[in-house]
Formats: sequence, C-alpha cells, structure tokens
Amino acid sequence: MSDSCVPLLTADDLLRIAPPRNGAAPCPACAALVCAGWESVPGSFERNNLRRIGSLRRPGGEEPMLEEHHPHGTNGWSADAPIAPVFFPYNRCTVWQCVRCTRVFLRYTEYGGYYQEERIRELAPELVTDAAQ
Ligand SMILES: [Zn+2]
Repeated sequence: MSDSCVPLLTADDLLRIAPPRNGAAPCPACAALVCAGWESVPGSFERNNLRRIGSLRRPGGEEPMLEEHHPHGTNGWSADAPIAPVFFPYNRCTVWQCVRCTRVFLRYTEYGGYYQEERIRELAPELVTDAAQ
C-alpha cells in the first residue's frame, strides 16, 4: 500500500482520532511501545499489531521541509515537543493505530548517512498544534 492510498490527516484529524488519556494501561499488543518522545521501534515488536490509518505527508514529489517547531525550548527528542504536522519530522509521518486498543502512533524512517532507523512516537492530543510555516 503506497502513501497515496491512505488519507492525508491534519492537526484537526489527529485531535479527532486521538484517544482520551484516561490513564489506562496499554493493552498487551502495544505495551512494548513506550514512546512519549521519539524512540526506535523495538526490534522485537510485532508490527502487525499496528494498522496504518493515515499519513501526514502531502502527496507530490517534493521533499517535506526539515524545519522543526519548538517555540517553547523543546528539542526533537523531548517528550513534550509539539506535534506539528507541517514541520519535521511529522510532515513525513504515517499514522498508526493499535489493532487491539485505541492508542495512536506516528512513525517515520530516519535516514542517516549509513543507517536508517524506524522511529515511533505516541500521539498525545495535548501536544498537537496546527502551527503553520
Ligand atoms: Zn494497544
């Protein structure tokens, strides 16, 4: 399935699909994903436990911009960094939901010089912002 086959989601959409944070423990299928900030997807994680429900990447050939959005002194790894779909790395993320419970995650692949790494972050609705470029 290519990215063009999944719906393009906005900040409003993320707020709509994000489950309420009710303090419930994660279900067994996604409990291995502890990722308030960006983390590597654990190698042992069963990827079939997540299904793709959308994308934040706009269709078209252009590479999304690399600028990040940190108006309050956070950095890319902060657990409280804003989730701004227009900005890096959210602008290249796909959106996934646990097949057993309603937790939602963002994923993208980081391409380094000699490596690539799959990263994942839980969708925290209170951090979503529709900040524009
Ligand atoms: Zn789950």
